[in-house]
Amino acid sequence: MSNGNDEKVLLIPKIENGIVIDHIPAGLGVRVLEVLRAWPGLSGEILTLGCNLQSTRMGCKDMIKLWMPDLPTRLVEHICLVSPGATVKRIEGYHVAHRYVAVSPAEIRGLARCRNPACVTNHERDACTRFVATDETHRRFRCVFCERVFALEDLELVLT
Ligand SMILES: [Zn+2]
Repeated sequence: MSNGNDEKVLLIPKIENGIVIDHIPAGLGVRVLEVLRAWPGLSGEILTLGCNLQSTRMGCKDMIKLWMPDLPTRLVEHICLVSPGATVKRIEGYHVAHRYVAVSPAEIRGLARCRNPACVTNHERDACTRFVATDETHRRFRCVFCERVFALEDLELVLT
């Protein structure tokens, strides 16, 4: 009898050193990939993306492994915005050396564009956008400048 689980694990080999972005909701791995690709200096990094992996916790999940020593905090924040609940770990010598605090933030600064065309942040070149969560679930955010409220998934994430 072959062990199906082992075969699936082999598709994404264990890494000795690097970054693991785990527990990405199935289907959102591609969005995380887009964020990584858009990050300055990261477009050429070696990575693997696993889709629809089995997870005892989530049923189905995506996972990304990166061959790089560290991730900037802002990039981790950005990853957690597009992929709520993802866990980000740094691996050294096959062991977890560091677990990034991966909660969606109560405040989003400079990572999203306001969708209100009249908002001042869309008219001043150097304006840094700022959104504040409207409740403790951090799923809805209010633009500090125009007061308009957006669902997290409706915010247009950008790197500024
Ligand atoms: Zn606004």
